[in-house]
Amino acid sequence: MKTLVYHITYYDYDKSLYIQFARCNFGCLGCIRKRYLWDHHIYKDSDVGGFEVQRFNTLSLEEFVEIIEKVYVEKGLKKAVLGGGEPTVDPTLCRIIDSLYSYGLEIVVLTNGFLMDRVIGCIPRNNLVIELSIKSIHPEKFSIYTGRRCEDLQVVLRNLELVYSNNIDLVIETILIPGFNDIDDVELIAKYIASRLGNDIPLIIDEYVPIPSTPWRKPTLEELVEAKIRAEKYLRKVVIRSSYTMKPLGNVYQIYPKTIE
Ligand code: SF4
Repeated sequence: MKTLVYHITYYDYDKSLYIQFARCNFGCLGCIRKRYLWDHHIYKDSDVGGFEVQRFNTLSLEEFVEIIEKVYVEKGLKKAVLGGGEPTVDPTLCRIIDSLYSYGLEIVVLTNGFLMDRVIGCIPRNNLVIELSIKSIHPEKFSIYTGRRCEDLQVVLRNLELVYSNNIDLVIETILIPGFNDIDDVELIAKYIASRLGNDIPLIIDEYVPIPSTPWRKPTLEELVEAKIRAEKYLRKVVIRSSYTMKPLGNVYQIYPKTIE
C-alpha cells in the first residue's frame, strides 16, 4: 500500500523524525513548500517552486515501517513529527500513526485541520499532539490565503473544537504575516480560542518566511513580541517560533530519499 510520505529527516538532538507528506488539500500562498521542497534545515538554498507528487517516489507502508525500525535500532527514536504537505490527506495515515505509536514515540501531527473529523477515530488520546494551524480568523483572508472557500474556515474551527472535546492534546499555530495576518489578527485568534476553548490552549506564533511570489515580508522580532503580548491578554501559553529566537540544535540527517538531485 502506497503512502504519501516523500521525505524523512532525523534530528539527533531530540532523536526525532520529521516525516513529510507530498500533498495538501490547501493551496496556501505562503506555503514553505513553494520555496523549499525538502526539509530546509538541510537544503537552505533549494528554491524549487512547489511540490508535485509525481516528482517523488513516495514510500510504501512496508518501506516506511522498515525505515522506522532501522532508525529506531541504529540511532534511537523518541519522537515523530508529521507534516508536509498535509498528513490527513494520506489514506494510510492511521496505519502510519499505529506503526509509530507501537514504538512508544511521542507524535506531533501538523495539520490545517480540514480533514480532522475524518481521521479523529484513529488518533491516540495519549502521547500525541495535534498542532492545528489557523491561517486567518477572517473568512475572506482565510480564503485568499488558502485558496479554499470562505465557509471552509468554519470546518477548520469545528474540527478544532472536535479535537479539544476528544481530549486530544492540542496546540494552535498561526503565522504573523505583516500586511496580511497582522498583530491585530493574531490577537483576534487568541481571543477566539479563549472564548471557545479557555485560556489554557497553547498558541504558537510563527514567523512568516517570505515566499518569492508573495508581497509580504518577514516580521521583525519586535512585531513578534508585540503579537505575543497581545495574545497573552487571552491565553496563558503563547510561544514565538522564529529564526530570531530559535537556533538549530545538533545535526540533521537525511533518511529518505537517500539522495536528492
Ligand atoms: S496547509 Fe500547510 S502544507 Fe498545505 S498549502 Fe497550506 S502551508 Fe502548505
